[in-house]
Amino acid sequence: MIVFAASTSRIDPAPPAGRRGLAGLRRTVARVGHAAADLALGSVCAGCGEHPGLLCPACRAALLGPASCVRAVPGRPDLPLAGAATYAGSVRAAIIEHKEHARLPLAAPLGDALAVAVTALLAADVTAAAAAEVAALGPVRHGPVRRGAALGHTGLGSAGLGDRPVVLIPVPSARSAVRRRGHDPVLRSARRAAATLHRSGQRATVVAGLRHRHRVADQAGLDRREREHNLQGALVAARAVAGRSDGCCVVVVDDIATTGATLRESARALEVTGVRPCGAAVIAVV
Ligand SMILES: [Zn+2]
Repeated sequence: MIVFAASTSRIDPAPPAGRRGLAGLRRTVARVGHAAADLALGSVCAGCGEHPGLLCPACRAALLGPASCVRAVPGRPDLPLAGAATYAGSVRAAIIEHKEHARLPLAAPLGDALAVAVTALLAADVTAAAAAEVAALGPVRHGPVRRGAALGHTGLGSAGLGDRPVVLIPVPSARSAVRRRGHDPVLRSARRAAATLHRSGQRATVVAGLRHRHRVADQAGLDRREREHNLQGALVAARAVAGRSDGCCVVVVDDIATTGATLRESARALEVTGVRPCGAAVIAVV
């Protein structure tokens, strides 16, 4: 089941059909046309541009690994970050093709990659919890121990993340970027990731519970310092997030991680409402 916060319309501000006008119609047609092109001969791989189809097997494989790296969000050593791939080559090309050129069927393989990253995050936490239990047991104690007990104070693994439902909270795009692109690529990928996780037996929902407090520039094209300044205090979490994520593992999701500024701001905004994220997951890490 995929759940959206009541504030979704404020986060994904698609205007009513009557106000879309010609520009909106053109975007819709372009989108449908692109989707149709992927079903027709002549469509080429979004990753390498060489093979026919949406994404060739080699580029699809590159998106899913081989190694999902788990590390901390820069500047937040308490917040683990997992990425399915490195942001380079065919992975970079596929993400840009989806995001900037609205090749919407790519949400499926990109969402699958995001699901891989979320799974890696959960697995790493279980591993960390198990290691902490061993350390807590010491060399002479034996017997069953409640999993995650040793990490309870950090919130990481305190209830065994792998056992809890996962709530994916997408990083919101700037409204201007959503208008320009005609879609919200991270929300779209998150929906697919939740569906994929669900099919694999992991309960997962999407709660679009973050929105911009004020107008921000698109992060693309800004340097590290500009990104920090652009985002400081920029996000606010819907109050409904706390109720919808109670007892769940909350994971902030985005397409790529660069400086970590967006992920940090997302975590801060959630924490203000009393929601402590378990970690962050992205399709690719720069
Ligand atoms: Zn390819």
